[in-house]
Amino acid sequence: MNQKTLASPFHFSGVALHTGAQVEVDVAPAAADAGITFVRDGVEIPALAENVVETSRATVLGVRGMTVSTVEHLLSALFGMQVDNARISISGPEVPVVDGSAQWFVGQIERVGVRDLGVSRARVTLDAPILERDGDRLIIALPAERFSLRCIVDFPHPVGSEYLALTLDEATYAREVAGARTFGYLHEVEALRARGLAQGGSLENAVVFGPDGPLQTLRWSNEVVRHKMLDLIGDLALVGAWPQCEIVAIKSGHALHARMSSRLRERLLSKPLSEVSSS
Ligand SMILES: [Zn+2]
Repeated sequence: MNQKTLASPFHFSGVALHTGAQVEVDVAPAAADAGITFVRDGVEIPALAENVVETSRATVLGVRGMTVSTVEHLLSALFGMQVDNARISISGPEVPVVDGSAQWFVGQIERVGVRDLGVSRARVTLDAPILERDGDRLIIALPAERFSLRCIVDFPHPVGSEYLALTLDEATYAREVAGARTFGYLHEVEALRARGLAQGGSLENAVVFGPDGPLQTLRWSNEVVRHKMLDLIGDLALVGAWPQCEIVAIKSGHALHARMSSRLRERLLSKPLSEVSSS
């Protein structure tokens, strides 16, 4: 399998979910082995596990104090559509949330097209399982012939438990994952707003669950686990290579996803990431 990039750039702008600020983004082609890099105020922030600086509400990347937040949906679209190399110029601290899913990004990638760079793609293969856990939250990578993922979510009422399994290719990603929106609970949205967060949040860019169910029509009955899969794929883009393994994620979030991406990246580089960051 060869590395790919976009055939031409695309542009978007929108409101940042947490700050409510207007942000402009250019997603441009990049050369083989460049990987995916954010550029903010002239600082290059490679989308790699060693640059994760925070995972509490979204995945935040940073280099020398310059950060970009909420990178996971755009990275998920690029990685899910097998775009290995791209240069993302961003005018503000956070990637705009658009409709809360990766559907619009996938539409743009399909519109501009993808170009084969004629250089083979790096893969991570395993000879033994890797496991990361945090209480009852768990993520496992198993040796496999293809990149496949299984997710279980278990949230309070009215979401409950959902399960999804898939083998990743562009068509499956576009059809089964890209359209799933981020979600939250009505009481959480009210609490975030009271703390000055989620200023850009609305029923247009997130599914909100009230005590009796979703306030909007769901795109799938199991949209929540599909969005978890979307986030997981975006966080695994931080490996910087194709994970040729089976990922099993149970009640996982950005923090565990980032730990798994670090472990897979260490396997790719055959050394601890602490040595990479300090070099
Ligand atoms: Zn998300």
